[in-house]
Amino acid sequence: MITPAGIYLHIPFCATRCHYCNFATGGYDEQTAEHYVAALRREIESATGRWPEMTRQIETIYFGGGTPTTLRVDQLASLLEECRRHFEINAGVEITVEANPGSVNREYLTDLRGTGANRLSFGVQSFDDRELAMIGRSHQGIEARQAVEMARAAGFENISLDLIAGLPEQEMATWQRNLAGLFELAPEHLSVYLLELYRDAPLQHRIERGELQAIDDELTVAMYYELVDAAGRHGYDQYELSNWSRPGFESRHNLKYWTGAPYWAFGISAAGYSGSSRWSNTRNINHYLELIERGESPVADNSILSDDERQSEAIFLRLRLREGVDLREHQQRYGVDIAVRYQEELDRLHEAGLIELDESTLRISRAGKVLANEVFAAFI
Ligand code: SF4
Repeated sequence: MITPAGIYLHIPFCATRCHYCNFATGGYDEQTAEHYVAALRREIESATGRWPEMTRQIETIYFGGGTPTTLRVDQLASLLEECRRHFEINAGVEITVEANPGSVNREYLTDLRGTGANRLSFGVQSFDDRELAMIGRSHQGIEARQAVEMARAAGFENISLDLIAGLPEQEMATWQRNLAGLFELAPEHLSVYLLELYRDAPLQHRIERGELQAIDDELTVAMYYELVDAAGRHGYDQYELSNWSRPGFESRHNLKYWTGAPYWAFGISAAGYSGSSRWSNTRNINHYLELIERGESPVADNSILSDDERQSEAIFLRLRLREGVDLREHQQRYGVDIAVRYQEELDRLHEAGLIELDESTLRISRAGKVLANEVFAAFI
């Protein structure tokens, strides 16, 4: 049976740049946005010819960025229309749009719902105005609450909220208030990430100059466990290391990434996967526009994965999920007996309390969740 694919569309515009951001995004201007939407449509149009081995059957579409809601609704609708023209979109498709609180109003959200978009993912990050200003977000805490209320009124029944834990100078008390703010809004889905700063992030420079104090790892770990326990008390399932949902509201699109399903990808920096090869587009918007204009491929990297790379990737992606790795299924699919091939690594991780292993399943343990990269490294 063919596994239906997802489609990712990257919208690289933001009102301002957050002080920790490493995504391919820049300032919004109307003319560039018009050109970019036209280019995306051309890329969608030519994609099925470019990747003939990929399924055209689609069950998720995801607008990420950047801030997709910097575009007008009719621009987002035209992109959906282009997808409908060139792919077979399943009934019940999940269509997610990432949005920033403060970038949307009731009318916009109502029109967006009218396009068929049925899931919103708001980048809340914190409810604390001091923290929001420190990390350069363009909204205030109250706007996150208003955005969720407006989204509900517009008919969205599937809302995800993002938070960041481990911000400089963050205290447990502020973190607990952020969690309380989150649960009060009763979203269907939560994504919570630990702050990771790249070398040239403005926030990293402020820490290096001594203007801000990074918090220690112990406190960050305590914040993660505070979240894990609070989310459980509020009825959310932790179905992935950084993601929680009400039953039935897991991100179907992101599950494609973790379960080795195929996904198409359009726009700058977007990365796709066919089941055997992985590719990503150029990150430079001018280069992207030129290539599309000339009718050329915007792909900058394309690698074909060996069987061994695919099986090792399958282990660490599945380890992110609550279900873990089904040992028998893995052996049937890749011909690798994990217990034999990785015996030494498994003994070491088990002794350190980072994994749980029985005859049928390998899972990451509660202690392993905060040292996940160490666990994954054992299988690479
Ligand atoms: S809104 Fe998101 S993509 Fe845009 S600058 Fe902030 S972190 Fe980066």
